Amino acid sequence: VAQAPVILRVRELKKSFQGLRAVDDVSFDLHKGEVISIIGPNGSGKSTTINLISGFLTPDSGLIDIEDEPIAGRGSANVSERGIARTFQNGRVFGALSVDENIALGYHKKLSSQRPFKGLQRFPIIRWLSLLAETGAALLPFPAIARENKEVDERVVREIDRFKERLGTRRNDLAYTLSYANRRRTEIARAHISEPKLLLLDEPTAGMNQSETAEVLQQLQYLKAQGHTILLVEHKIELVTAISDQVLAMDGGKIIASGEPDEVRNTPAVIEAYLGK
Ligand code: ADP
Ligand code: MG
Repeated sequence: VAQAPVILRVRELKKSFQGLRAVDDVSFDLHKGEVISIIGPNGSGKSTTINLISGFLTPDSGLIDIEDEPIAGRGSANVSERGIARTFQNGRVFGALSVDENIALGYHKKLSSQRPFKGLQRFPIIRWLSLLAETGAALLPFPAIARENKEVDERVVREIDRFKERLGTRRNDLAYTLSYANRRRTEIARAHISEPKLLLLDEPTAGMNQSETAEVLQQLQYLKAQGHTILLVEHKIELVTAISDQVLAMDGGKIIASGEPDEVRNTPAVIEAYLGK
C-alpha cells in the first residue's frame, strides 16, 4: 500500500495527564485503504492516541494531518466533519434512540453537509429533548433525521442487512435495551454508514466472546475489502494478525515496535511488555 496517498499523518504526538505521559512521541503514517492496528498492554496510551486523532483531546504538542490538512486541537465536531468516524472502547450509542435512528444518525452526518436540517420537523420533540439530555448541545443538528425519509430508510436497511440475524428484529428497539454486543454492532454500522475517509475503532471486540469476536473480524474484513482506511485498537492478537497491514505496539505511551503483524508480535520487547503486566 506504499504508493497510496497518506490519509493520516501523525508526528511527535504528545499528551500528558498531570505529569503522566500517556502518549509520548508517537509518529506514523496511515495510507488510503490500509489497516493499522495499535496493540499494547492496558494503560499504554492506545485510547488516548485515538482520542487525540478524533479531537476528543487536544495534544500538548505534535502534528495530526488528515490529507495534509492539520487537525490537531480542532475539536471532535470539526474532525468528524472532515470524514473521520470513530467508535468507543465502551460502545457508545444513544440510548434514547432506536437502532434504526442510531444508524440513521451516521447517514445524516453524511447527508447534512449537502442538505442541512432535512426532516427536522418530523422528529418528535420529546425524543429530541432526551437526545439532547444525553449528548449535550453539540449534537443539536442530529435530530434532523426523518425515519419517514425514504432514502435514509433504504440505506439503513442495507446497513442493517449485514447484521440481520442480530439486529434485524431489533430495529425499533431503543438502544438502551440492547445487549452489549448489539450496541457495538449498532455503533460500527453507524460509523460505516457515514462513509468515512478514516475509521477509528477502539477495541471493537472488548468484552466479546469467541464467536462474537469472529463476527467482528468478518465485519472488519468486509470493510477492508471495500477499501476503507482503518486505525484499529485491539487486544486480540489473532484478530490483529488476520486484518492488519501494519501493527504499532505501544508501551508507556511510546511506540516500542512497528511493522508487519508477525514481525511485531515476535519482537522480544513486545512479548515482554505483554507478559510483564
Ligand atoms: P490504553 O487505551 O492503552 O489502555 P489509555 O490511553 O486509556 O490506555 O491511557 C493511558 C494512560 O493515560 C493511563 O495511565 C491512563 O490512566 C491515563 N489517562 C487516560 N485518559 C486520562 C484522563 N482523561 N485523565 C487522566 N489520565 C488519563
Ligand atoms: Mg483503551
